[in-house]
Amino acid sequence: MNQSDAEKRVGELRALLEQYNYEYYVKDDPSVDDYTYDMLMHELADLEREFPVLASPDSPTQRVGGKAAGSFSKVPHAVQMQSLQDVFGFEQVGEFVARCRALYPEAQFSVEPKIDGLSVSLEYRDGLFTLGSTRGDGFVGEDVTANLRTVRSIPLRLREALPLVEARGEVYMPRERFLALRAQQEASDAQPFKNPRNAAAGSLRQKDPAVTAQRGLDIFIFNLQQCEGRSFSTHDETLRFLEEMGLRVIPGRCICQSAQEVFDAIARIGDARQDLPYDIDGVVIKLNALDGREQMGATAKTPKWAIAYKFPPEEKETVLREIEVGVGRTGALTPVAVFDTILLAGTSVSRAVLHNQDFITDKDIRIGDTIVVRKAGDIIPEVLCSRSHAPDSVPYKLPERCPVCGAAAVRDEEESVLRCPNISCPAQLHKQLVHFAARDAMNIDGLGPAIVTALLDAHLVEDAAGLYRLTKEQLLTLEGFQERSAEKLVQAIAASRTMPLDRVIYALGIRNIGQKAAELLCEHFGSFEAIESATREEIAQIDGFGSIMADSLYTALHDPSVQTLLTQLRAAGLTMAYEKKQRTENAFFTGRTVVLTGTLPTLSRSEAKARLEAAGAKVSGSVSGKTDYVVAGESAGSKLTKAQSLGITVLSEEEMLRYLESAE
Ligand code: NAD
Repeated sequence: MNQSDAEKRVGELRALLEQYNYEYYVKDDPSVDDYTYDMLMHELADLEREFPVLASPDSPTQRVGGKAAGSFSKVPHAVQMQSLQDVFGFEQVGEFVARCRALYPEAQFSVEPKIDGLSVSLEYRDGLFTLGSTRGDGFVGEDVTANLRTVRSIPLRLREALPLVEARGEVYMPRERFLALRAQQEASDAQPFKNPRNAAAGSLRQKDPAVTAQRGLDIFIFNLQQCEGRSFSTHDETLRFLEEMGLRVIPGRCICQSAQEVFDAIARIGDARQDLPYDIDGVVIKLNALDGREQMGATAKTPKWAIAYKFPPEEKETVLREIEVGVGRTGALTPVAVFDTILLAGTSVSRAVLHNQDFITDKDIRIGDTIVVRKAGDIIPEVLCSRSHAPDSVPYKLPERCPVCGAAAVRDEEESVLRCPNISCPAQLHKQLVHFAARDAMNIDGLGPAIVTALLDAHLVEDAAGLYRLTKEQLLTLEGFQERSAEKLVQAIAASRTMPLDRVIYALGIRNIGQKAAELLCEHFGSFEAIESATREEIAQIDGFGSIMADSLYTALHDPSVQTLLTQLRAAGLTMAYEKKQRTENAFFTGRTVVLTGTLPTLSRSEAKARLEAAGAKVSGSVSGKTDYVVAGESAGSKLTKAQSLGITVLSEEEMLRYLESAE
């Protein structure tokens, strides 16, 4: 790869990894599995090594991914809470052992399960639990003392009242608790957590400690950060001391000497993994002698005296029995593999999405095949490949007709998707109505999938407009409805009439038009009439829109059946007007492009972005000739350097606030 290709790829990888960090650490809702993330991170680190000019202090390879969120008060860590260098093979473990041996020929290693949770620090002063915090970016975390107090295995008082003990551990959610929480969230239509790790993080960072208390979190302690009143020479001694103090120290660890002993211990921990009631995602290998820590040192984000061996994603073979074809809200026919149940990463799995015909054809997946299924900690399993075909098997072809209404399916070349074109197809209608009523759309409380099925089966509604004609008496003819529940649903439907126009547009379920796009449209055009009469080109010009989105919207709004639906919704009294968000005209920021970089002293990135946008600025992720201002905080890296080299005005947070306030 030449330097300019590498530069492009490095930019792409950084943007992707920053996005994944945000989803994982801030939203507790990752969109890719850890293995995929780790591979991208390694690719970036390799490129930065190969092309040192591309290295940058704000690269995701140089920073611990978390961030202290704005909602809790911030806690600086006296001892940095580092991450760990990960490795995926025994060869690299052997190299680590050899590196330590070169300094300490008699080196011993503590080999410990790597608990898949989130890191916290517990501070005890004079024996009392005084402060609990998250890792954040390793230097500054969030104060979650009140929430940690609800974790029963954290003692509020140590057995001995030493002046200061700071221990570090991993808060996790036992698998059973996670599965129960997920079932509960699914039943109440709440967005379910993807895996126990995100569930633990989301539960610990709750505003209300009572919610944390109900989540059944637990902790394992794995390090002594600092201690006054005692001294130790090995890591093992510190863990024993912490155990004596009444803390719950990580189980299943052992002390090894040779590389072979370390490999055996890793294999043993790996074998026992499935039987543990909690998730582990690897094994940590640490130099046991504490004086070696200083000698070996650390990089910006990881110590050199320890490494994390990460388990590869678990894969298993099974037999593909059937391919079911579902019909989505927009008519997409989605094939789903149904196979003999297997136990993967702690849960039973018998289905996995096969995406589309191209995916099936590329991997030549046929009914009856022995297939390989993978699941990387996350909930979503995937079919990796077909291992072998059954005798007499034939290549699989998706049906040419919709399995629900029988309409001839059409292939959407752009997305390699087959679609049922019949917008009155009962399967589509069902999903559309569920989407229409969803909390983030028209928010009709009580109108979930089961009631939509009942309404369609009884022919009480045929489209979304029909909901507004439903009467209490009609609902009472359905099984399960009583006077009170029927009345409540009619009221909830009526209340949704006042939802703003962007919600109505989003609720229509037009392909490629999500919540943000609906809001952009309304902000730009201001009324439904203006949107309806806009040309494709006018729509495509909206900042944040592309030609695919513009096409989708234009085609939908000019479809006679959608027009009829809209006329009826308007007649039903839905809000077709839009009140633009209040924006303060600001001489300094309105219409300007601003880039935020580094850690600002008081505002979080999202708070600063919101303030700037409210003043009419466009906040962008990268510095270019079009950038007007760069607001830089602590540890600002390459963006700041680039801004300086382009002669762009750089502001501090204080200056930004001053300019914002002067105009407000
Ligand atoms: P990490 O989880 O790979 O390893 C470091 C952490 O291990 C420490 O902070 C500590 O909390 C924990 N740990 C558990 N048991 C331990 C023990 N016995 N001794 C020492 N530490 C122990 O690193 P990270 O920085 O916390 O997170 C990065 C990882 O998170 C990535 O490698 C990736 O797998 C995952 N991630 C995934 C996504 C995604 O989108 N899927 C995004 C960001 C991060």
